Amino acid sequence: MPGANLPEQIELVEVAPRDGLQNEAVLLPVAAKLELIGHALGAGARRIEAASFVNPRAVPQMADAEAVCAGLPQRGDVTWIGLALNRRGAERALATGRIDQLGAVAVTSDAFAMANQGQTSAGSVEEAGAIIALAKTAGRSGQATIAASFGCPFSGEVAEDRVVAMAARLAAAGAVEIGLADTIGVADPAHVARLVARVAAEIAPLPVRVHFHNTRGTGLANVWAAIGAGARVIDAALGGIGGCPFAPGATGNVATEDVVYMLERARIATGLDFAALIAANIWLGEIMGRQLPAMVPRAGPFPPTRAAAA
Ligand code: ZN
Repeated sequence: MPGANLPEQIELVEVAPRDGLQNEAVLLPVAAKLELIGHALGAGARRIEAASFVNPRAVPQMADAEAVCAGLPQRGDVTWIGLALNRRGAERALATGRIDQLGAVAVTSDAFAMANQGQTSAGSVEEAGAIIALAKTAGRSGQATIAASFGCPFSGEVAEDRVVAMAARLAAAGAVEIGLADTIGVADPAHVARLVARVAAEIAPLPVRVHFHNTRGTGLANVWAAIGAGARVIDAALGGIGGCPFAPGATGNVATEDVVYMLERARIATGLDFAALIAANIWLGEIMGRQLPAMVPRAGPFPPTRAAAA
């Protein structure tokens, strides 16, 4: 047993193919993206953010979203997520016939919402509701992520009341899950514990997902705080790839390898295979041409395996 108030298992969403690659300078061809997705599947990932359907001029890394979807393996046990910021993107994602779940994004501040998606904050909540409705009409599900839940790169502190109110609106619009995203990597564990507990109480029984960037080194601490406060779904990216569009040179999402190590050691099951993650990390490091931010693969598992000790 993992301990009081801790769950026996957590669901991970692999976001390297979308949030990871979207914030990398390297443009991977479709075949390499599909290979990355194959590695995630091989390691046990069963919910995968495959692509975002956004303006290719704004996000050239995602210009081949349709081609990636066409190459996704046909499997009944995987939920493929496509991100959309507006109805047009949602329609594109649904037209592929391969996206099981639409991910909408609502933003806490007007300044960030305008910069990220050309909408006011209220407008982004409206649009997220429309995206969720489109998903349901098509027989799919829709979830929503609240971007900049813990701080805004333009207007600074974000009121917790604002985030809770947005979560309630999005839940009422039919979202099957609400994500709280620390888009710019400024959250601390106490803030995370407070906000996750409030949002979880507000939207129960819907699950809370959390999305952390390790921009300032608080990523894993925030994951742990979120789980203790009731979050049951964690976004993570293989290798910890990605970055922060507002902090050039910053590290990316929390690394799947590091999150899995921490949780499995704490006896919280993730369903992922650590050895397969290490192999995926080595492959991805070669593809990206650099040392990846994930820390555990550099040191290896613990306790050491017989092969490693020999
Ligand atoms: Zn992100």
